[in-house]
Amino acid sequence: MRVTLLGTGDSTGIPIIGCHCKTCEDARKKGWERKRFSVMIQNEGKILLIDTSPDMRRQLLDTNVDRVDAVIWTHCHFDHFGGFGNFYRVQSDVKVYTTPKIHDDIGKFMSFMEYKPIEVECYEPFELIGLKITLFEVNHPPVDAIGVKIEWNGYKIVVSGDTNADIPKRSLEEMEEPDLFIVEALAPRGRFKKHMNAEEALSLAKKIRARKTVLTHVGHFFPPHDIAVKKYPIGYDYQSFEFSNVKLTRFFK
Ligand SMILES: [Zn+2]
Ligand SMILES: [Zn+2]
Ligand SMILES: [Zn+2]
Repeated sequence: MRVTLLGTGDSTGIPIIGCHCKTCEDARKKGWERKRFSVMIQNEGKILLIDTSPDMRRQLLDTNVDRVDAVIWTHCHFDHFGGFGNFYRVQSDVKVYTTPKIHDDIGKFMSFMEYKPIEVECYEPFELIGLKITLFEVNHPPVDAIGVKIEWNGYKIVVSGDTNADIPKRSLEEMEEPDLFIVEALAPRGRFKKHMNAEEALSLAKKIRARKTVLTHVGHFFPPHDIAVKKYPIGYDYQSFEFSNVKLTRFFK
């Protein structure tokens, strides 16, 4: 099984249109960027996407993906579902999994697109491309939002989704002891109603005893990437984690 961060930016991505801060200018000058959020999971020759970033077309071309087998949406913000139209033109019959409420929210924007909504309740595990998946509630007011737990062959991967640090207790239990924790951190510090800062994300990682943590959904509030990466376990676009199917050896690049 392989997990790839297709986009590690916040809703605007980096560089931000019209922003000339140090970080956005560094990105322009050195040619790096943070595309909008999506995580790709590959298993048994199939592909599952957690969220469909507005940058989806570029992301799928860059990673040589020919077709997508399933999608999970975490919530109704544009940076998490806006790229779904890229499938509509090239692929039919894409199954999309999320809670009834989130289907409802996103459905309002999708009236002219055909897709197969599959309703799943939080805390009720289901099987997808050979993986055990459990959705859990997080806290991203005012909208409903979920995180995703993936279990495979003794490994556990947790994706926090967009959330502040005030996560329901039942969800914290689901999140416990992941081998890989992909957690959002909008900024190094500062208080946000809808998001975590890096300190909150890292203390959450410690609390759930994550074995490896990678920060995503990162805004331009962080220093330029090569400086930020010295201080934080900050992710980057197309960073990928390989999980062996040998149960006893835990390793990932
Ligand atoms: Zn977002
Ligand atoms: Zn900027
Ligand atoms: Zn959001």
